[in-house]
Amino acid sequence: MVRVRFAPSPTGFVHVGSLRTALYNYLFARHHGGVNILRIEDTDRTRLVEGAVDGLYRTMRWAGVTFDEGPIEGGKYGPYVQSERTDLYRKYSDELVTSGNAYPCFCTSERLDLVRKSQQATGTPPMYDRLCRNLTTTEVSARIAAGEPHVIRLRVPIGETVHFHDLVRGNIEFDSRTIDDQVLLKSDGFPTYHLANIVDDHLMEITHVIRGEEWVSSTPKHILLYQAFGWEPPKFAHLPLLLNADRSKLSKRQGDVAVEDYKDKGYLPEALINFLALLGWNPSAFQEIFTIEELIRDFDLERVNKAGAIFNREKLDWVNAEYIRKMTPEYLALLVRPILETRGYFATDDYLVSVVRLMQERARTLPDFVDFASYFYVAPTEYDEKYKAKHWNDAAKENLRELLPLFQAVESWSHDSLEGIVRVFAESKSLSAGKLIHPIRLAVTGRGMGPGLFELLTLIGKQESLLRIEHCVANLA
Ligand code: GLU
Repeated sequence: MVRVRFAPSPTGFVHVGSLRTALYNYLFARHHGGVNILRIEDTDRTRLVEGAVDGLYRTMRWAGVTFDEGPIEGGKYGPYVQSERTDLYRKYSDELVTSGNAYPCFCTSERLDLVRKSQQATGTPPMYDRLCRNLTTTEVSARIAAGEPHVIRLRVPIGETVHFHDLVRGNIEFDSRTIDDQVLLKSDGFPTYHLANIVDDHLMEITHVIRGEEWVSSTPKHILLYQAFGWEPPKFAHLPLLLNADRSKLSKRQGDVAVEDYKDKGYLPEALINFLALLGWNPSAFQEIFTIEELIRDFDLERVNKAGAIFNREKLDWVNAEYIRKMTPEYLALLVRPILETRGYFATDDYLVSVVRLMQERARTLPDFVDFASYFYVAPTEYDEKYKAKHWNDAAKENLRELLPLFQAVESWSHDSLEGIVRVFAESKSLSAGKLIHPIRLAVTGRGMGPGLFELLTLIGKQESLLRIEHCVANLA
């Protein structure tokens, strides 16, 4: 039975890269009919952020990533929050000390600082110099009995090659000389990430560890821990980094990295998920849009790439626009409604659905239905300068002045009758219809782009459309 876990440290917000990791775990579990677990890795008490777990659940629910076991879901391998499991880690750490695979270290942080500084000065990689590694048992017992603060360190074997097979990257080897005698248990009795992570992966019977590339260098330490305990390690798959367009690591400085940012900007969860699924995994050269069912059906780790994946905003916009086109106007209107209200606009449900229907082909994100379409809710107060320079002049105003009574007189304010009036009028004046259509669009919407003019006039209605045209003929220079 496949059992995978997403193991975030709750440090505030969910990075899009974390959502991708959570998603791949979810898809892998669902594909294999396995179990998807959420485990909160909160042993670093200095990095804790109040409310982060709630925020995490909110984001995962929004994205549609669900768990079978976890702090809220429960399960027989719990608790699923590491700070509630500290006794366990202490017990396993003791076990390693007894078997000689770990040792207490009494070095003070001042001493460790000095060691680090002298290593920096000589250009050697910063590592613990192993001063406490060979203390005698009598000395260790005496110092512990005297209450001297200490940590527990892993006794990394000397002169060994540590290797593991990565499902994405193939065989990976590390020379044990490059591996630090890692701290497993801190002086406050809290475990470090390494100890807690592997104890839990073992006890929770995790079969596959699917996580970001930044954890590759931790894996040899984990392998050594598995060996020290005599446990079978799980399979590992390290996912490629997410990169900015310039191939630097995706970072806050270059744009949005929190899932919340994308939610707030009006991206649909289905679209973000579709987009993230393809960042590092190539199921097909021919298909870009996948339903979640298709993602689950097709997902495999074999087609996950090693190379970093570029987080391309234009592609995300394109995927989002594809989803917007596919959804029903009624559903989209529900999602647009809160944005409309934040902007202080009003529309009835029917009216909003009609606006959505007209804008659906053009919108890339949900706020586009409001911000690029504000004229559906209020009369424009600004007019596109370029468009105006091109289409608004005395002749245009004169034409509209003459056209107004014909619009006024129309009985059914519909697409066809309005179009008929404009065409006949244009012909009678030997004008192209554009000479009327552009100025009308400017007067009614203030913009040079948007849905078909006669459709939008029909929706905005006779009274309001005429008011806007009259206003511009009289006032817009
Ligand atoms: N707690 C680690 C993190 O914040 C988990 C890494 C892993 O999956 O082992 O990403």
